[in-house]
Amino acid sequence: MNKLMKSVSGIRGVFGESITPENITKFAAQFAYFQKNRHTEKNQKIIVGRDSRTTGDALAHAVMAGILSVGLDVIYLGIVSTPTVLLTVKELEAIGGIVITASHNPAEWNAMKFVDQNGMFLFPEIMNNFLCECEKNNYSYANWDAIGSRYDYFDATWMHIQKILSIPYLNLEDIRNKNYKVVIDSVNGAGGVISPTLLRELGCDVIEINSEPTGYFAHPPEPLAKNLEQICLEVKKNKADIGFATDPDVDRLVIVDESGCCIGEEYSLLLAEKFVLKHKKGDIVTNLSSSIASDDIASEYGVKVVRTAIGEIHVGKMMLEIDSPIGGEGNGGIICPEVNYTRDAVTGMALILGYITERGLKISELVNEIPKYFIAKDKIDADIENIFEKVVDYFKEEKIDCTDGVKISFKKAWVHIRKSGTEPIIRIYAEAETQTEAYNLIDKVKDAIKI
Ligand code: MG
Repeated sequence: MNKLMKSVSGIRGVFGESITPENITKFAAQFAYFQKNRHTEKNQKIIVGRDSRTTGDALAHAVMAGILSVGLDVIYLGIVSTPTVLLTVKELEAIGGIVITASHNPAEWNAMKFVDQNGMFLFPEIMNNFLCECEKNNYSYANWDAIGSRYDYFDATWMHIQKILSIPYLNLEDIRNKNYKVVIDSVNGAGGVISPTLLRELGCDVIEINSEPTGYFAHPPEPLAKNLEQICLEVKKNKADIGFATDPDVDRLVIVDESGCCIGEEYSLLLAEKFVLKHKKGDIVTNLSSSIASDDIASEYGVKVVRTAIGEIHVGKMMLEIDSPIGGEGNGGIICPEVNYTRDAVTGMALILGYITERGLKISELVNEIPKYFIAKDKIDADIENIFEKVVDYFKEEKIDCTDGVKISFKKAWVHIRKSGTEPIIRIYAEAETQTEAYNLIDKVKDAIKI
């Protein structure tokens, strides 16, 4: 039996086993009550949106029941991308939001993610406070005459598209004149409701695959090369300029080049960095496990890379603090503050099209300009004693960062070992100029902990 998982990134489980209408109503009521006490000055409304999962409608009703019952209004967006919900919280000046999505997890999963009044996910310390309140069941229902009202708002997607089109350094006319042929794979997630419209607004000839937001995912929903054969074939067959694949809640973007080759999720952020930094100077923010190629790009533009713990909220929070123009994560998560401080694959598409237009080159040629590194990944059981201490001791002469697990950096390489947030394992990632060197670094870590 699957167990409900509660963490700083939200609450998730398998529908009917661990996540149910009963328990989700309580979390929603608790969240509404929590936000109401934190933001007394603002409009007492909460935004709710969901991805396309088959369980989304049932859970959305349960979520809305919880919020209305503690006396707050609900603005319901229906099926939308996750970044659309976050943007709408800010634009409509709500006191919070709930996104019902299990991101790239399989179809039987669902989850709640909690948004603060600033249009960002709850910061980790606030999320921990909220989880403590949940343990205490610390909320009360409103009187019958103070129950909230529900409003439907179906303009959120269009508002999101308009926000993207108003990015000041995006030359819409030039992009539109190119009339790019683009294949898009939304994996029957929420992408189908936004990505094709945005691309048509950018003058593209759009070929849609898996655009119906049914929640019956056409392939495993994580946008990794091994799951994206269909879009690669379609790009080739249609002689398209580029292909874009997204995960079900549209916060991760993966690019397929004009030859039908999936270029790998790391490149989405790297290409966006190259475009944005040309127009807006400022330090890049990314996480400890994202590619070292960001450092090369930063030095090209005379800026720095600030690295945070893993998890988009850490990246977004740091971007806000240092007023960074571009950041994100190597898993295809691009954060562009001109639109919002969250990973946004649709904004990512506009940035990438802006970049190929400005440079007048093919996407594969732009990828070839970025220095090549190789990332190796491995995992080990989490029940070995003193793993981190052993690794620190083994590499004590090197540059060590203990922000999130242990990361050891070398001149053009690094190895990072950390506890997984979702499974009882330790992940080991390494990056170097050659594949052999990257795997050697993983072997060294294993040597250090003697396995
Ligand atoms: Mg996602």
